[in-house]
Amino acid sequence: MTLKLSRRAALVGGAALPFAAGLALGLGPARAAAEMKGASTPLHYRFSLGGFEVTTLCAGMGPMENPQETFGLNATPEEFAEVSAAAFVPADRSLNTFTPTVVNTGSELVLFDTGLNAAGTLAALEDAGYTADQIDVVVITHMHGDHIGGLATEGTLTFPNARYVTGAVENNHWAASGNENYERLITPIADQFTYLDDGGTVSSGITAMAAYGHTPGHFIYHLESEGQRLVLTADLANHAVWSIGRPDWEVRFDMDKAAAIATRQRVLGMLAADRVPFVAYHLPSPSVGFVEVDGEGFRHVPVGYQLLLNS
Ligand SMILES: [Zn+2]
Repeated sequence: MTLKLSRRAALVGGAALPFAAGLALGLGPARAAAEMKGASTPLHYRFSLGGFEVTTLCAGMGPMENPQETFGLNATPEEFAEVSAAAFVPADRSLNTFTPTVVNTGSELVLFDTGLNAAGTLAALEDAGYTADQIDVVVITHMHGDHIGGLATEGTLTFPNARYVTGAVENNHWAASGNENYERLITPIADQFTYLDDGGTVSSGITAMAAYGHTPGHFIYHLESEGQRLVLTADLANHAVWSIGRPDWEVRFDMDKAAAIATRQRVLGMLAADRVPFVAYHLPSPSVGFVEVDGEGFRHVPVGYQLLLNS
C-alpha cells in the first residue's frame, strides 16, 4: 500500500512529494500494525433456483496428508504427481471441506446432511441467517460419519422440529451392520424417518437418484424449480482433480470401487451433457460448479457469478 501511494505520489508531481516523504519518514497518519487473521473462507453461499433458495454451508474443513492414500489408489505416484501439477494442486497434501446444503422450497426448509458435528453446521447455519428449529426436513444422503455426525450431540437432537428422510437401501445396510455411529445417531430416531426408493420425492421438485458405490445406498438429489435445475451430488466425486478429473481412479472410502467408478462416469456424463450446476459435498467452498468432458474424465468449472444472476 505504501509503495503504491509513493509511486502514485511521485507521478502526481511536486505538490504530492511532501506527503510521500512524510510516509517514508513514518510521519503519516498514525496506524497500528494489524494482527494477522489467518486463512478464512465464507461460511455460506446462497442463490435462487426458480422458486427455491439454495444455501451451501461450509461446516468445516480439514487438511489431508498423503492424499494418494485416499484418491488415485490405482494410479502410479508419477501419474498422480503429474495430474496434480497440471491442475495447480500439490500432490502431497490436500484440504477437505464439509458442505451441508439448505434448500428453502418456499414452504419447507430442507437440510441435506449434517456435517461431522452439530457445532460446525450450526455456526454456518447461523451465519446464513437460519436457526436450528427452523429446519423442517433433514435429508441424509448416506450414513458416513461426516454426514450424520451433526444429527445429535450427546443424545440431544440438533434439529428439534425436523422430520427425516433417507434411502431405504442405505438404511437397511447400516441397520444390519452393527455400526456404532448408526446405533448412536439413527436408531433413536428411526421411527421419524421416511425411507425413499430411487426416484422418491422429498418434497415437490426434490427427487432422489440412486448413485450407488460410495456406499451401498448412496443417493444424490435432483432439484428442479420453474425449469431451473441443480444436483446435490453428495460424495459422488470428492476431489475436483483426482475424482472429477479422473473418475476411473479408485477412492479408499468408496465401499464398492467398481460401482462408484461406473456411477461417477454416468452421473458426471449427465451433468456435462445437460450443463447442470451441482453442489459437491467435499469440494472447496462454495462447493458449486459445472463439469465438461475432458479427455479421460471431466473438467470441473467452479461457479462464478452465474447462479447469482438467477431470480
Ligand atoms: Zn463424505
